[in-house]
Amino acid sequence: LNQSTPLENKKMPMKKLDSFDLLKKFVSVNSSTDSSNEEFVFLLENILEKICQQVEIFGFKKDSINLFNLVAKIEGKSNNYPTIFIGHTDTVQAGNNWRTDPLKLKDDGKNFIGLGASDMKGSLAGLISALSRLDKKKKPENDIYLLLDADEEGSGLGAKKLLEKLNFKNAQIIIMEPTENNLQIFQKACLGMNIVIKGEARHSSLTSYKNNIKNNAIYKANKIISELVGYEKEILDKKKDRIFGESSQNIGFIKGGLHGNSVADDCIFKIDRRLLPYENLDEEIKRIKNLVFSANSDSSIEISFRGESFRTAKQSDSVKELKKTLQKLNLKKKFVLNPFWTEAGFFKKWGDCVIIGPGTPDSIHKPDEFIKKSSLEDFENICYSLISS
Ligand SMILES: [Zn+2]
Repeated sequence: LNQSTPLENKKMPMKKLDSFDLLKKFVSVNSSTDSSNEEFVFLLENILEKICQQVEIFGFKKDSINLFNLVAKIEGKSNNYPTIFIGHTDTVQAGNNWRTDPLKLKDDGKNFIGLGASDMKGSLAGLISALSRLDKKKKPENDIYLLLDADEEGSGLGAKKLLEKLNFKNAQIIIMEPTENNLQIFQKACLGMNIVIKGEARHSSLTSYKNNIKNNAIYKANKIISELVGYEKEILDKKKDRIFGESSQNIGFIKGGLHGNSVADDCIFKIDRRLLPYENLDEEIKRIKNLVFSANSDSSIEISFRGESFRTAKQSDSVKELKKTLQKLNLKKKFVLNPFWTEAGFFKKWGDCVIIGPGTPDSIHKPDEFIKKSSLEDFENICYSLISS
């Protein structure tokens, strides 16, 4: 027996991880955004440790919930043009009306049904499966990073923590949101604002028109809303873009007062604005503040969400490379514009973003979420082809 033969020399190449098996495992671990993603992130770490040179987990708190971001790296020959895959570990809450157990992946022959199958545990399964196929003795051309964050379906805190911690330049950024492997290279900006108005309560028998205009929070809110709707009609309705569609505003929530026979001492309403890429977010915030304060000077305004638009040129290297990859694999895909806001709005400062993922956009955030099996397989091949070439 030749004792000097190290075992590693005889080691078989690592068996590739099957994306279907991975997805089944991922879906079985609940990571809905109202709870901690701890169990899921540590499962991912366990798997990625065998594939990547570096895997790190960063913990932080949101209210009293422990959340975790994961960063993994495979070193390439060059660190000048890193390829960064961005994904989120959380899902929406399952809600009612599922016909199957949301945490038990169901195979109906064509699709996998389960919570997060499309958004976006399928993407993570496909990518990790592709990474496991890489020849460990051969370095890829460029550094490859996997940034998986928490709270994407919540307030986006996970992405903000990543941005505080890391910095990149000239990156090729793949946002793995569901597009059925089509390419999305732009999105609208998104702005959420809460307007809070104070009044002064008194019995309704003791009020008057003059008092209501001055002290009834609902009357004051009504004045602001009329102004906002007027602007929507006169200006926003005329802002249209061939690709992006309309610049829109929605007032979708209002709450105020206590009884019909009291003057309302408070009122809050919420605005959701979607902006075309040529509209400036800061200017828009300023404009809305001016409008609100000139209608009612003692309102207070809180920005609940601020997400940038993005636009990557069709001529950019990132897009050209992805198009070439799709052609090579004989996948007939197109450019699409899904209406959802994505974290590309945060990460665009590191480089060119493209949204591509295997999930089906129509199936997400509702019961019986599913992913096409063929789409998951294709995504694995797209990732493999992209990182091994
Ligand atoms: Zn998503």
